Order: sequence, then C-alpha cells, then structure tokens
Amino acid sequence: MEQAAKKPRVTASGLKKIARLYQYAKPHRWLFALGMLMLFLSSSATLLFPKLLGNLVDAGQKGNIMEHINTTGAMLVGVLVAQAILSFFRINIFVTVTEKSLASLRQATYSHLIRLPMKFFAERRVGELNSRISADIAQLQDTFTTTLAEFIRQIIMIVGGIVLLGITSWKLTLFMLAIIPVISIVAVIFGKSIRRFSKEAQAQVADSNTIVEETLQGIFNVKAFANELFEIGRYKKKTDDVAKTGIRVGKYQGVFTSFIILGLFGAMVAVIWRGAILMANHELETGQLFSFVIYTGFIGGSISGLAEIYSRIQKSIGATENLLEILDEPVEILSLTADVRQPITGALSFDEVSFRYPSRKDISVLNDVTFDVQAGWQVALVGPSGAGKSTVVSLLLRFYDPVSGSISFDGKPASSFDLTDLRRQMAVVPQDVFLFGGTIRENIAYGDTNAPEGSIIAAARQANAWDFIQAFPEGLDTVVGERGVQLSGGQRQRIAIARAVLKDPRILILDEATSALDSESERLVQDALEKLMKGRTSIVIAHRLSTIRNSDLILVLDKGRIVEGGTHEELMMKEEGLYKGLGELQFLG
Ligand code: ATP
Repeated sequence: MEQAAKKPRVTASGLKKIARLYQYAKPHRWLFALGMLMLFLSSSATLLFPKLLGNLVDAGQKGNIMEHINTTGAMLVGVLVAQAILSFFRINIFVTVTEKSLASLRQATYSHLIRLPMKFFAERRVGELNSRISADIAQLQDTFTTTLAEFIRQIIMIVGGIVLLGITSWKLTLFMLAIIPVISIVAVIFGKSIRRFSKEAQAQVADSNTIVEETLQGIFNVKAFANELFEIGRYKKKTDDVAKTGIRVGKYQGVFTSFIILGLFGAMVAVIWRGAILMANHELETGQLFSFVIYTGFIGGSISGLAEIYSRIQKSIGATENLLEILDEPVEILSLTADVRQPITGALSFDEVSFRYPSRKDISVLNDVTFDVQAGWQVALVGPSGAGKSTVVSLLLRFYDPVSGSISFDGKPASSFDLTDLRRQMAVVPQDVFLFGGTIRENIAYGDTNAPEGSIIAAARQANAWDFIQAFPEGLDTVVGERGVQLSGGQRQRIAIARAVLKDPRILILDEATSALDSESERLVQDALEKLMKGRTSIVIAHRLSTIRNSDLILVLDKGRIVEGGTHEELMMKEEGLYKGLGELQFLG
C-alpha cells in the first residue's frame, strides 16, 4: 500500500535511475546502436510513405504518363519492403539486447539479495522480495523492448511529420498545430490519473499474492488452526479491492480512449475542412491534401501514444526504484571463493557482549554475556524460552554484530575474519530441519557442493542415515518433496546431520529438537550427533539432560544474562540455582 502512495514522477532523477540500470545493457551497446539505426531508418521510411502516396494520387489526377505512375508505385513498394526487412531485424535486435540485459539484471539482483545480511530478511516478507525479481523486472522488460522503440519512433514521426507538412503547406500546418497540442495536453492530464490508479492496483495485486504465498507455505498451520475460512475472507477482501481499483482504472481508460478517438477524428475533419478551402483557392493539390491528412493522423496518433509511453516510463521508474532499493542495501562482505583462508581451531569467547535486534532496538536481548570456550569443548546453552540462546548462536554465526562487547575466535576478534571463512568452518543442525525440494543427495551435498559420491555416502553412514536411504528404491536420488515433507522428522534430522558431517566444521552448532522422536529414532539421532560432535567444538542449545551431563561447560541463560556457568556436577552442587531447578523439573522430573 505504501507503494501506491508514492507516485514516481518522470523527472530527471527518475530517468537517471533507469539510466543506472542501463549498465546491464552496456555490454550490448553496439548491437543496441545498430537496432537504433534500423529504428531510425524504418521510421523515416514510414514518414516517406504518405508523401509518396500523395505523389501517386497527383500523378494519376494530372493524367501523367503511365511511366510516372509506375515509378512512384514501384518506389512505394520498395519503401514497404525496406521497412518490413528493417522492422524484422530491429525487433530481433531489441529482443536480444533486452533478454540478455534482463538476465544480467536478474542475476545481479538475486546475487545481491542473497548476500544481504539477516537483518534485512528479518524485516521483509518473502513474497514481497519475490515480486521484486519477477514483477518489477517484467515491467522493465516491457520498457526496454517496446517503450523505448515506440518513444523514438513517435518523436521521429512528430518532428519529421511537422517538417514535411510545413514544406507542403505552412498555412495548413499552422492550423493543424493549433488543434493537436490542445488534445495532447488534455490527454496527458488524463493519463496522470490513470497511472495513479494502476500503480495502486499493482500494489494491491502484490498484497493479495503475498496472502496466497504465505498461506500455502504455512498450509500446515492454516489447516491445523482450521483457519481456511479466515484466509478465504482475507483473500476475498484483497482481491475485491484489486477488482474495484481495476474497474476504476478501466473506466478512466475508457473515457481516455473515447476522448482520443473524438479528438483525433475531430482534428482530421477540421484539417480536411480547412484543406478543402485551400484547394478551392488553388493553394493546395489533391495529392497534397491526401498526404496531409495521413500525416496528421500519424502525428495525432504519435502524440497520444506519447502519453501512453509516459505512463509506461513512469511504471518503469517505480519498478526501478523498487529494484534499486534492494541493490543499494549494503551486502555482507563475502569472499565468494572456495577455499578457507583463515582456518580456526574452534576456540571462541564472548566478552561482555550486549545485543539488541535492529528491528526492536528498545529491548535488550543479551546483557554482558561473557564466556570462554576451548577448542574441542562441548558447551550447552540452557535456559527458559526467550532467554537468548538462539541469539547467542546468531551472533556466533555473525548474522548480527554485538551492540557492545566483542566475540573472538582463537583469541582474534571476529571482525578480523572473513565472513565466508568463518561460516564455512561452522555447521548448524537446526531444530526445524530445512530441506530443499530436490533429492536426498542434493540435500546432503549442501554441506559441500563439490563432494564426490563416496563422501556423501560416508557422511550418510556416519549420520546413521544410510540404512533408511538405501531402503528407498531410488536411494540417494529419492526426492524429498517440498521442504522434505516426504521424510519423517528423525530422517530429516539425520540428513541434516549428514550435511554437517560432510561440511566437517570446526564449530558445530546444534539446536536440539524439542519434539520427541520414538526411542529407536532418538537413539539413532543421538548416536549420530555424538559421533559428529567428536573432535570439534560444539555449542548445543540443549533440552535434554543426556546431552548436557558430559558437557565441558554449561551456560545457564536467563533474560539475556548468564546466571550460572560450569559443569553439570558443579551446577548440581549449588544449594539452589536455576540449573538445579530446571534439572530437577525438566530433566529429572
Ligand atoms: P527459545 O528457547 O524459545 O528458542 P531462545 O532462548 O533461543 O528461546 P531467542 O530466540 O534468542 O531466545 O530470543 C531472545 C529474545 O529476542 C526474545 O525475546 C525474542 O522475542 C527476541 N528476538 C528473537 N529474534 C528476534 C528478531 N529477529 N528481531 C527482534 N527480536 C527478536
């Protein structure tokens, strides 16, 4: 809705923004220039057409010898053929340039988008970002292929037409010029209100699409809460709004079109009327009036066409602004190379780290969190819900930077490491395992996209996943279904573990699943995790005593502070404490 409120104007700065996108067309500029040349030639040929037609009429009327009639006729055919050929190549060239430029624009936008920091994604909806890459770029496609060519052709038509008319009869030209600009000004005013509504309609369509996307993605919740009726209502309201706005746009468009028809034909009648008077005074010949009328039609059409082009350019500026908004967001500094250049051992420390989420600056999520972890340690984070455990992990992965205090790896500040390097040496096995819609193989190989089949199988074995994978008829090539719905919870987890095994991280981050698996599945997952944790630092957001008992360090978080820290025995020995309480209640109880 916010989008509909701001109407982009076709201003110098708006055009400059479009020009910025032209960098994606730059590699094809010579081809583009060739297309422009053809456009220029074919428009000029169109311009010749009425003149030659007029000559033909005059040649016939004056009873000229047949030869003259035939030459003019042949010239006309020549012009037509030339125009047909030029148009064919022109369209092909423009489409080629556009498609290639849009592909690079799409690639640039996506590669920018995916490198934006987590903070950006926390504040936007997926559907909205999706439409940036699809709808806004489609809008630009229209501009590059047709709008630009139309614009240039119409300018040539108007200027060339007026010049040629002036040569034929300046009196009639002045008369015509007194009428046409009036029509065009009214047309522009009309065009403006139409544009405002169509922008509004675009935003409403995007809103309604977001509902479809979100509910389909979260179909589980919609069904489980039996909220189908609610969602249908929500969608109905949005789409009804879209229709209302669309109908309003249609009404304006209807009036606009009627006006153009009236204006155009009215002008035509006036010009012929005036031309007939001039002919009666022998100031004009029949053929000249004939070509005059056709030129006037061309000019009138071109001027009203310009209004349409103006609106399309305006839409493109809107789309460009949306795209540039993404392209101007600062990206994370990622070194998109394959090798790890700064290896870490897995020792890490938090030093008086405090943190607030950028989207909720008034709430302090972590306060003076300090702890040291030696390489190879197993660390458990425990504490009530909302205590800040996941936030500690997000900071470790450098999704966000602390507001104050510092995090270091191997004694060196986290900021001195390359972001890609750090994340390459960490692996996360999350609570809600996210699988991509492809095959089991692709999902495991996400941990190391270059891994050979042998390593993938070895990883699957170590994750206790090989047995069930093998039992599928298609083995590793079994399709897991959208988000892995065709696998059980325990199977998904073991695939996520295999993925982490393949990555062979120095630091393993484990968000223990709270949902209970059956005991056999549980044992397999637990066993796989224990194998995975061996020989590396692991940070476990723990919900089960079995995982915690052997930890080298247990950190108890409460309301963003570390309230207790130590081994299980140390913490249990305390007279009273959160851990002991939690332990008795949750783990032992
Ligand atoms: P749980 O055990 O329930 O997962 P947790 O200990 O992991 O909880 P966090 O997820 O770290 O807790 O959340 C700590 C606090 O930060 C919560 O109050 C939460 O509302 C807030 N929070 C989490 N993510 C964000 C975010 N992206 N933007 C703003 N606030 C957030």
